[in-house]
Amino acid sequence: MINVTKPYLPNKAKFLEYVEQIYKTVWLTNNGPLYQELELRLKDYLGVRNIILVTNGTFALQIAYKALGLKGSVITSPFSFVATSSSIIWEGMEPIFADISPNDWNINPEEIERHIRADTSAIVPVHVFGNSCNVEAIETIAHKKKLKIVYDAAHAFGVNYKDASLLGYGDISTLSFHATKLFHTIEGGAIITSDDELAKKIRLMINFGITGPENIESLGINCKMNEFQAAMGLCILDEVDQIHKERKRIVEYYTSELENLVKFQSFDINCSRNNAYFPVLFNTEEQMKKVQVELNNNDIFPRRYFFPSLDTLEFNVCKQSMPVSNSIASRILCLPIYPELKDTIIAKITCIIKRNC
Ligand SMILES: *Cc1c(COP(=O)(O)O)cnc(C)c1O
Repeated sequence: MINVTKPYLPNKAKFLEYVEQIYKTVWLTNNGPLYQELELRLKDYLGVRNIILVTNGTFALQIAYKALGLKGSVITSPFSFVATSSSIIWEGMEPIFADISPNDWNINPEEIERHIRADTSAIVPVHVFGNSCNVEAIETIAHKKKLKIVYDAAHAFGVNYKDASLLGYGDISTLSFHATKLFHTIEGGAIITSDDELAKKIRLMINFGITGPENIESLGINCKMNEFQAAMGLCILDEVDQIHKERKRIVEYYTSELENLVKFQSFDINCSRNNAYFPVLFNTEEQMKKVQVELNNNDIFPRRYFFPSLDTLEFNVCKQSMPVSNSIASRILCLPIYPELKDTIIAKITCIIKRNC
């Protein structure tokens, strides 16, 4: 069975060496040596000022909102994984959707302006499939309207914009290190900020606000990454160049075969590509479904990322019309992409698409 992705497992011997080390130190969590090492290495690899590792990418968003003191309503993209908007509701706020642009599939800055209300405290854009949002336009709006920006950068691991990390934009950017992501720690995530004071506050927040054995300084919660998760991250980071090479090979193969048959996401020219996903857009939902059925019959399971458009979910109370997001959500398929994916399988997939388009 071929799925849209396959969790990457790094060199087993190396992982077991780390496990041995954990057995020797008996340091399982709470800012352990592996956690510290991974944090330092990721800071360097990604080129960011502060990075704080946490339990998962959803909690990274929730902590970001809390740390910035967000309240009221928040403007976000309807074309994303459900965690983007559910984390906003979970933290007692209302997500207001602003429609996406038809070519880059990211939140449309003009739509953001139109939806700002008196109680709006922030913008939560998503760099969907690793393609940078219009970060300059979003910054201008946020500055003018005194709004905070939290980028859901779950797809943007290692992406650069104008030769610097894309994760440096906004007040905070968050990453997900879930098993299905390009780089993972089984479950995990990270909070990135250039503001040192904010980083200090976040470090307290993720460990109950505890500052010493008998000191609890402020309100906090528990979302610490443990040593086993950090060990997985360290092993995968050693292999990340190879992962990128493999993903690039797959994207080039798909692209050359499908170029004139389906539509691809248009990437910002200033944005580097991490090839985390390979989404293709069909002309009609009917055509997409025909392809999906035939692939499924061949034991190949692409995913409808992202369907349904989040504005249609029953628990998102604020109902606006999001024609672009709904149109793209209905016609999109993310094709299988992961390092070991064989050329013969890619050939089979592209052959089925050709037959149906
Ligand atoms: C994966 C993902 C998340 C959630 O991350 P978890 O680590 O699974 O909690 C949030 N936003 C987007 C866009 C994602 O793809």
